[in-house]
Parts: sequence; C-alpha cells; structure tokens
Amino acid sequence: MAVPASVKSAVYTTAHFSGLSRALALRYRGRGIIFALHSVVDDDAFHPDHTLRCPVGTLAWALRRLHQQQLDFVTLDEAVERLRAPAARPFAAFTFDDGFADNLTKALPVMEKFAAPFTIYVPTGMIDRSIDAWWFGLAALIRLRDRIELPALGRFECADRAGKQRTYAAIEAAIHNDFELLPAVREAIAAAGIHIPALVDDEGLSETQLRSLSQHRLVTIGGHTTTHLNLARASAATVRSEMADNRQFLQNVTGQPVAHNAYPFGHAGACGTREAAISQSVGFRTAVTTRAGTIFPEHRDHLHALPRVCLTRDESVSTLHCKLNGLSRAINSRFGHPVALM
Ligand SMILES: [Zn+2]
Repeated sequence: MAVPASVKSAVYTTAHFSGLSRALALRYRGRGIIFALHSVVDDDAFHPDHTLRCPVGTLAWALRRLHQQQLDFVTLDEAVERLRAPAARPFAAFTFDDGFADNLTKALPVMEKFAAPFTIYVPTGMIDRSIDAWWFGLAALIRLRDRIELPALGRFECADRAGKQRTYAAIEAAIHNDFELLPAVREAIAAAGIHIPALVDDEGLSETQLRSLSQHRLVTIGGHTTTHLNLARASAATVRSEMADNRQFLQNVTGQPVAHNAYPFGHAGACGTREAAISQSVGFRTAVTTRAGTIFPEHRDHLHALPRVCLTRDESVSTLHCKLNGLSRAINSRFGHPVALM
C-alpha cells in the first residue's frame, strides 16, 4: 500500500531535524537528481488528483532552494555527460510527464526565470485527444460526488476537499495494485456522464503548442508511448510499437530527434528490464521510471532505468533536503543498495 503523503512528510521532517537525513546522505545521495512532475497549477486551485499537480509557487520555491544548494540545472543529455566526469558538479534535471498545456502556460515562465532546462514526456494520445485517461475521469467523478461506492473497492466519503484528495489517492493506488478494478471504475465514470475526451481536450497541449514548446531553448520533448498504457501488461510487440510510433509522431511534429523516454506510470508493476531493453533498441538514449532514487555514476550502464523523485504540493525545506539526500530510496529499499534500477 502507498504511504500517505502526510506520513511521508512527518518522516522526512523527523529525519531532517534529527540529522538522520544527513547521515543517510553519505550513502544515498548521488551525483544528481531527476525531478518528476506532471501538471503545474495556480497556488489556490483545488484538484482531487493532487498527486499530479504542483503549484506554481511550490515550483518556484523549490528551484530557488535548489539553486541556493549549488545544484546546476541541466538537460538530460548534460546529466548523462556528468555521470562520465568524476569531478562534475552536482545537478538537478526536471521532467514533466503527459503533455499538460499548463507546462507551457504555467511551468515555462518559472523555468525561464531560473534558466532551468526541462523535458516534457508526451504521449501521442494527449495531443490527438485519443488517450484513455481514466485518471482524469476518476478525478472528475470525485469532484462531482460527495460519496462514491465501487464494487470490490467499497465506499468512499468525499464531501470535502481533504476527503476528495484522500479518495483519489486511495482509488488510484488500488487500480495500480490491481488493474482488474478498472472496468468498474470506468463504468462509474461513464454513468456520471463524464466524457474523458473533453477532459483531455481541456488539459492537453495542442499540436501547435507542442511544436512551439519544442523550439524553446530550455525545452526537450521526450517519448511517453502512444496510448499511455501499462507496458508490463502488454506484449513485447505492442511495447515496441507504442514506443517507436510515439517517437516517430513526436519527431514528425517537432522536426527534431527524440532521444529520451519515460515509461507510463513508471512503477514496478508497469515497467521492468524488458521495457528498458526495448526502449534502448527503439533508439532512445535514456528512459526514466518513477522508482524513487537519486542518480549515481553507476547509472551510466543503466541509462534506460533512471529513477526520479517527485516534486509535489507538500514540499518543505525538510522534504526537499531528504529527497536530495536519497531518503526515499533508503526507505523503499529498506536501507539496501543506494542505486535504484528496474
Ligand atoms: Zn504519464
């Protein structure tokens, strides 16, 4: 089961102020860090799917803080170069998944202010509006209802904001744990009259916006498959065509080579060594997961299994320092090997 954000935050605060985080840093802090974000929203906006939303103010605060910590903001290509150079300075790279239009309207101005390069991983389906984004439907359903009852999942009270965010996190985690739950959730979304393509149309980058972003000096466009499926549940042939077709689509739209890839969902149930091998053979130079961890020189030999660390609404000085120090890897690996792979 996923650990609630409030518990994680309390652990980070304790670890930070007790000095435990600094002690763990000796082992778990790598050469650099790749941050994972999705949508960037106004500070006062409410979203049930809060795990996908980073407020503009939090993003700006984090960039300022990381800059003060003497981290260089680099592209993924530069990050790879630095893994090869023993004396290279520590770095942070920034990545945004799924191709939200707010990456252009809200994230870009902040990234420009700090001259921070970033990569946007774009599924074809977000641009042509064909993506089956059940998670948008789920968030809309929770926004609409005060209470949700789902077969095999039970009843969720979601009358207030905290209840809506709790419900979203619980149902999303349950689906990732067992994709067989998805049909019942889809049924509830459709029964509420929620039309997922309209939500995608509201949230997704247009082709014109994507092209203009791709021409910005700070922006790299990366692959994220055609349909944003759980790759681990698909055949090898499907995994290959999902990656290769998406790469070709993005190269056609942007007129530029697409060298970096992100696995949809990115957790252990959604991608593994098979996906890493296919990503490499399709021609991507790097690929990122959502396994938590910082980047070590050893990742030179595992460029298609790069871990990331999420940047979310609930950042504080202590959580950010714990993330840089690799605390999430220490906890997830039960104080095992510091280098997160597949
Ligand atoms: Zn994604």
